[in-house]
Amino acid sequence: MAQIIIKNLRKDFGDFTAVKASSFTIEDGEFFMLLGPSGCGKTTTLRMIAGLELPTAGEIYIDGEEVSQKRASERDIAFVFQMFALYPHLNVRQNISYPLKSQGMPKAQIKAKVAEVAQILGIEDILNKPVGGLSGGDRQRVALGRAIVREPKAFMMDEPLGALDAEFREHMSEELRALHDRMGATTVYVTHDQLEAMQMGDKIVVMNHGSVEQFGVPQEIYDWPATLFVADFIGSPPMNFLDFQGEVAKGDTTVSLNGHTFEVPKQLQEASGDLVFGIRPEHITLNTISRYKGEVLATEYLGTTQIVTLRCANGMLKARISAHDDIHVGDQVGLVFNARTVTLFDKKSGAALLSDANKGVLDHG
Ligand code: ATP
Repeated sequence: MAQIIIKNLRKDFGDFTAVKASSFTIEDGEFFMLLGPSGCGKTTTLRMIAGLELPTAGEIYIDGEEVSQKRASERDIAFVFQMFALYPHLNVRQNISYPLKSQGMPKAQIKAKVAEVAQILGIEDILNKPVGGLSGGDRQRVALGRAIVREPKAFMMDEPLGALDAEFREHMSEELRALHDRMGATTVYVTHDQLEAMQMGDKIVVMNHGSVEQFGVPQEIYDWPATLFVADFIGSPPMNFLDFQGEVAKGDTTVSLNGHTFEVPKQLQEASGDLVFGIRPEHITLNTISRYKGEVLATEYLGTTQIVTLRCANGMLKARISAHDDIHVGDQVGLVFNARTVTLFDKKSGAALLSDANKGVLDHG
């Protein structure tokens, strides 16, 4: 088990910087997600933590010890590349015991360790089976067993469920999280799937173009995205963005969209010029009386809710409302925004106008 501290970590490949001055801390026992689109530097960051890639600059500390330039074998970290990467000519027991054999551990001790791991994973009854005929789930458990049996300080997992179909993927992600909760080992998990990150992670780092955009617990990242990129990447449908010209003095509680006044959270930094008004689909209410209107362009029925696409004076947006609300394409409806959930962004920099310090004091009540 280990705490992992990343300080100003950078990785260049020739002229190209894949990871730019990243800093964050992974606490002991956390299930930690590295999230972002393809090519943002997640795998490179994970490989640097594991020691499979050496950083160009910056530091990595594992349990207080600097390991930045140490080899992978000196870091005591298990890297789970792909759950299905097993030795096909060995049976389950041999696959799991392989790392211990390589370490020269005595046979009796190996047997006891494999039995313990098999029990944790619920695979005692298949220990003597060849891996070739196993179901996808069992193959995955065996691959995990091989990583767990070494009792490493931490686990690195790179899109381990990426190859699975949606239903099985959900089942395995629940199992993986439950296993983590039983063992409590620090786990760093790479994914491009924001839902997977939100469901499984204790904390999330959102990366984009090699930089850390935001670092925090899932709810904080969802409720208070630090940048336009994060607000757009997290949530399905993502946050709505309406452009407007405005000024916000510190302590302002309203902004004006097309002549209509809307309440916003109290603690805003000062900003003027091109701003973006951000609101999540579920925080929009439709009524007949609000004077800020939208035209319904489409409705998408989802069972318990429906997604309504609207055009208003400041742009297009999507609202998530009850499936029972009687809304039709072509309707003119009034829009109400839940004031406490509005986020304002500076359009040029993309930064949210709520500073980190402000987030803590927002009145969520
Ligand atoms: P993906 O999910 O697609 O793997 P990622 O976020 O994990 O994306 P990385 O694999 O870390 O991204 O790659 C980040 C960038 O660095 C990419 O543009 C990639 O092409 C580049 N890159 C990664 N490894 C190398 C390498 N060995 N040499 C040159 N460029 C590399």
